[in-house]
Amino acid sequence: MFKLAISAGHYLGTPGKRCDKSLDPNETREWVLNDRVADKLEKMLAEYDGIEILRVDDTTGKKNVTLDERVIAANKWGADFYLSIHHNAANKVFHGGGIVAYAYTSARPTSYEWQSALYASAIKHTGLKGNRANPLARANLFEVRETKMPAVLMECGFMDSTADVPIILSEEFADDLAKAFAEVIIERSGATKKKEPIYKVQVGSFSKEVYAEEMLKKLKVAGFEGYITTL
Ligand SMILES: [Zn+2]
Repeated sequence: MFKLAISAGHYLGTPGKRCDKSLDPNETREWVLNDRVADKLEKMLAEYDGIEILRVDDTTGKKNVTLDERVIAANKWGADFYLSIHHNAANKVFHGGGIVAYAYTSARPTSYEWQSALYASAIKHTGLKGNRANPLARANLFEVRETKMPAVLMECGFMDSTADVPIILSEEFADDLAKAFAEVIIERSGATKKKEPIYKVQVGSFSKEVYAEEMLKKLKVAGFEGYITTL
């Protein structure tokens, strides 16, 4: 079983973490955007066997789960990979934008593999190529440093970029991004698509075979196929 920890960055009340008012009158909170992608990713992965998910943020967005608490939860659970989902901002720079994938400055090689795979897939699906910052960045960020498993923090576009804001607010972008992450996670975890269930219809159970045969006869007369089995 592959254990995936997902952290949708921040919570509803984090000061300042929101889209710039001049670009989004609603000032959509960063957690809302992070959570939307995380939710979609969870739904997509629920269709696969061999993968378990732990959300380390508060999925109602009401509680401020600290970075420390998030990392401790993932470490304690024994996650195989830690994905932190964020949206970027750089104090009203407005120009440029794009996706940035962060790994720890001296991470194990697997973290860097995840980082480039996730970034490449995100670009393939969304086209939001990073041009404001180094798109494959290494930084001393708490979540990627303190986690015991490979970890990547994705900054999924800038909330103060004229180019990015209309895109990152769209449902389609969140869908594409979730799909991009899901593809990498499925491939690297070896998860397999769940089989579609098959529904059987039963019409009766009898202690005597003769009654079962009578019922089968009735079914056939009515135009239904059937057969008798024992339990
Ligand atoms: Zn953030």
